[in-house]
Amino acid sequence: MLDTRELGRRPGSQRLQTVTVPAPADLGIEVLRVPEGSPVELDLRLEAVMEGVLVTGTATVVLEGECVRCLEEIRDEVTVDFQELFVYEESDTAAGEEDGATSRLVGDLVDLEPLLRDTVVLALPFQPLCQDDCPGLCIECGARLADDPGHQHDEPIDPRWAALQELADDDVPGRITGGQEE
Ligand SMILES: [Zn+2]
Ligand SMILES: [Zn+2]
Repeated sequence: MLDTRELGRRPGSQRLQTVTVPAPADLGIEVLRVPEGSPVELDLRLEAVMEGVLVTGTATVVLEGECVRCLEEIRDEVTVDFQELFVYEESDTAAGEEDGATSRLVGDLVDLEPLLRDTVVLALPFQPLCQDDCPGLCIECGARLADDPGHQHDEPIDPRWAALQELADDDVPGRITGGQEE
């Protein structure tokens, strides 16, 4: 909640405000979230207009999640822009629209949370990656390929495969593996 009382209700008066608020619960999407209570930095311009208060600004939030390809933890930050007109409570739909989507002041207070939620969620990638070209995980052993670009398997690593290989190579007893068949 943001108090707009100091702004007065004179159209044209404006005020710049920078505040840091704790992030609300459940902000974000399943794979990329803003940790509850983490600092949300708001850089705002409040401007009194005829029907209410126009809020323009940016919010910078901390993000936590996992890469969808390699499951590596992601820690990031994102800054989003928003602008919203908060109409005075008693204002009688000056714009002639009562669509229920109008944001309203509560007394002199602006509730930025719904706006913050919408803006942040829209800005998040549905498939967050630890890096743009994350190669993901090795399909054989699950190793994270970004950590080991030259990663490959010349030999089966699962002991069951090794045993099968041994059977196939029974003309060479005791040899664990003959490598790839030619
Ligand atoms: Zn990744
Ligand atoms: Zn592997």
